[in-house]
Amino acid sequence: MKVLRATARPTKQAPASSFVGTVYMDEVLVGEKPSRMRATRVSFTPGGRTNWHTHPVGQTLYALSGIGRYQEEGGPLVELRPGDTVIIPLDKRHWHGAAPNSLFSHLAMSEVNDKGEGTQWLEPVSDADYTKKPTDV
Ligand code: MN
Repeated sequence: MKVLRATARPTKQAPASSFVGTVYMDEVLVGEKPSRMRATRVSFTPGGRTNWHTHPVGQTLYALSGIGRYQEEGGPLVELRPGDTVIIPLDKRHWHGAAPNSLFSHLAMSEVNDKGEGTQWLEPVSDADYTKKPTDV
């Protein structure tokens, strides 16, 4: 058995190279071989969001608190609320983050591929894309 104590793992700020705004990350799990699991709690301040990116084995998001936003390239802007789960296909360009006037946190779960490769980071999400009106799906 292994217990990873919260006090032993300080919150980190997400890098400006891959995120817009102020975003914090708390590592939950980086699986050791043969596991490829990755889980992180990500806390976005209002307006905070990821850059556009892809995941080689897809990603699952579980909304924990606040109001968030999710969009796949060419798809609707979707509002996320606590308890919502988003299943993101592999290699699909997308972004996720907080709504403009709300904090938002989610649990992000993904796996690296058989080469050990994870998230592919791309360009920032423009304000024009970010501020579109959300659509219910
Ligand atoms: Mn993602």
